[in-house]
Amino acid sequence: AGGSSGGGGASSSAGGGGTPQTPSRYEAQKRRDWNTFGQYLRNHRPPLSLAQCSGAHVLEFLRYLDQFGKTKVHTASCPFFGHPNPPAPCPCPLRQAWGSLDALVGRLRAAFEEHGGRPESNPFAARAVRLFLREVREHQARARGVSYEKKKRSR
Ligand SMILES: [Zn+2]
Repeated sequence: AGGSSGGGGASSSAGGGGTPQTPSRYEAQKRRDWNTFGQYLRNHRPPLSLAQCSGAHVLEFLRYLDQFGKTKVHTASCPFFGHPNPPAPCPCPLRQAWGSLDALVGRLRAAFEEHGGRPESNPFAARAVRLFLREVREHQARARGVSYEKKKRSR
């Protein structure tokens, strides 16, 4: 007599229809960003709690991130200011690209409220932060010769 072999293992994963987005990747990135910001607060001198955090501190954080940036942003005195493809290297600083900062602020704004922050005191939604991001976008568009409104591919 043969025993029935038990079907082993994994239940088929529940899945709805094919959703095009992968929220888990966004969530993971958001958690990483939130940890980075928490670390920044802990290392802050003087120490800063989340409740004390204002738009000014968010701006400080965004400027601090510039040292890890990979986007060349020409200064107004650079001969390549406004050139999308400079023919030679120049000593201009590397910065965080506007698109990265904008996405980062969006994720942190959501994370702040998920961690119990009140929407009306969300430092990532502060007017100063919005103005700063707009300024960065306009400056980088001019400095790099890239229009974010319209990307023309002419050669
Ligand atoms: Zn330059």
